[in-house]
Amino acid sequence: SSTAPESKNLRVKLVLLGDSGVGKSCIVIRFVRGQFDPTSQVTVGASFLSQTLVLQDSTTVKFEIWDTAGQERYASLAPLYYRGAAVAVVVYDITSPDTFKKAQYWVKELQKHATPGIIMALVGNKVDLHENRAVSSQDALEYADKNGMFFIETSAKTADNINELFEEITKRLPRTSS
Ligand code: GDP
Ligand code: MG
Repeated sequence: SSTAPESKNLRVKLVLLGDSGVGKSCIVIRFVRGQFDPTSQVTVGASFLSQTLVLQDSTTVKFEIWDTAGQERYASLAPLYYRGAAVAVVVYDITSPDTFKKAQYWVKELQKHATPGIIMALVGNKVDLHENRAVSSQDALEYADKNGMFFIETSAKTADNINELFEEITKRLPRTSS
């Protein structure tokens, strides 16, 4: 076989949480399909997509991505998606302080109910709209640090930091040595 002896195949359940309209679905579609569709449909309930990254040491990481709806009427379903997840990506819109507050609500939910040791990312999306920024990077970074999360600002529209988000996640995955 041409497979290196150390190579591993990891499967990673990842859930996206955050207010409706912050760009969760666009982030996933940018990552999985490399596209941005400004007329994208509102997510109902949740949707599922997967994408595999091959790392330099030839480890493959298959992300099983659960993209949830942000609407209140689905909030009670969220635990179905974050239960057993290895990674939670909490998204807000940098132009909307309300969505940053909502992100903090999701972080608290995860701290109460998610699998201990879950990897949490705080993502400030729509950084292409920086003229309308209403949440400072400094405030978000401080909040992320305090809560043991990593922080990144992205744009699904321009693709800024989208691959970097998922690369940062792979760096934090527990890797068993053999
Ligand atoms: P979701 O409800 O969190 O899944 O949000 P969507 O992915 O459906 O996006 C909501 C709206 O924000 C859509 O009109 C998108 O076109 C827009 N959007 C998403 N990401 C970005 C981004 O990075 N920049 C800009 N300018 N608009 C975005
Ligand atoms: Mg959506």
